[in-house]
Amino acid sequence: MNEIKIFCPATIANVSCGFDVLGLALESVGDEMVVRKTKSPEIRISKIEGQQLPMETNKNVAGVAASALLEKSNYEGGFEIEIYKRIKPGSGIGSSAASAAGVVWAINELLKRPFSKQELVTFAMQGEKLASNVAHADNVAPAIYGGFTLVRSYDPLDIVSVHTPKALFATVIHPQIEIKTSDSRKVLKANISLEKGIKQWGNLGGLIAGLFTEDYDLIGRSLEDHVIEPIRSILIPGFDEIKSRSLEAGALGCGISGSGPSIFALSKGEATAQKVASNMAAVYHGIGLNYETHVSSICPQGIKQIN
Ligand code: ADP
Repeated sequence: MNEIKIFCPATIANVSCGFDVLGLALESVGDEMVVRKTKSPEIRISKIEGQQLPMETNKNVAGVAASALLEKSNYEGGFEIEIYKRIKPGSGIGSSAASAAGVVWAINELLKRPFSKQELVTFAMQGEKLASNVAHADNVAPAIYGGFTLVRSYDPLDIVSVHTPKALFATVIHPQIEIKTSDSRKVLKANISLEKGIKQWGNLGGLIAGLFTEDYDLIGRSLEDHVIEPIRSILIPGFDEIKSRSLEAGALGCGISGSGPSIFALSKGEATAQKVASNMAAVYHGIGLNYETHVSSICPQGIKQIN
C-alpha cells in the first residue's frame, strides 16, 4: 500500500472533571487526510483544503508529528500529506489533534504497523505541543484509540481505554469566536485547594465507574468540574444559560469542550441530544451570536481508513 485515505474524528477533551486526562472521539464530525509514500526522504504537506493553515512542515502539527515518527523509524523514504479540514482550528474539538493523530496513524498503516498506539500518541503529542505549547494527550489519545480514553499518567505515558455506553450521544455548540488553547491555558491557576481536589477526583472516579457500568445517572452526577470551568466559562458567552437549558432538555451533563469556546453535553439517546442542540441554539439565537451545532454518537474505533 502506497497511499491511504483516512477519517480523523473530532474529540472532546477534559469532559468536565478530567482536565488534561480524559477525552472522547466523535463519530460524525472530523477531517479527512490522504497520506502517500514518496521516494525523497522528507515530509511534505502538498494540499490543505477547508482552512488557512501553514503548509510548512515545521509549522503544521501534521508535519511536526510525522517528523517525530520518522525520527524513530528506519524507513528510508518520505511522505506527502493532504489535509481536508472540516474541524475549525481553535474551536475546542481537537482540530490540531485530528491532524497530528491522523498523520501518524496513517503512516503507521503504510509502514505495516511498526508502532503501538501508545507510541503513536507520543508522536502526535509533539504536534499538540506546537499548537498549544503543551504536549497534552487528551485529544490525540481518543482520536487514536477511539471511544473514551484516560491518560492515567504522562510520565511514563499510560493510556487506558474506557468502556463507552452505546446510548451515549454528544451535542456540541460552537460559538463563532476563536479561543486559542495557548490563551485559555494562561487564565488557569497553577494550584488548587484540597477541597476542590477532593470533589474533582470523586467525580472523575464516578464518571469512569458510570461509563464502565453504563449507569447513566452516575455519569450525569459525575459530569461536574470544580476546577477549570468556573474560571474558563467566563471567556464563553452565554455559558451558564446554555448549560441550564441543556440540563432542562434532559442532558446528563454539560461543560466546556477542551479549552472552549465549544460547549458539549452528553445525553442518553439521540432524541435527547437533538433536543439539547435546539435548546443550546436558542440561546445563541437570542444573543445574536453565530454558531454551529453537532450531534454525534461516540466513535468506538477512532481514526479509520475510508475510500
Ligand atoms: P484546537 O483545539 O481546535 O486544535 P488549538 O488552538 O489547540 O485548537 O490549535 C489550533 C492552532 O494550531 C492554530 O494556531 C493553528 O494555526 C495551528 N495548527 C497548525 N497546524 C494545524 C492543523 N493541521 N490543524 C489545525 N490547526 C493547526
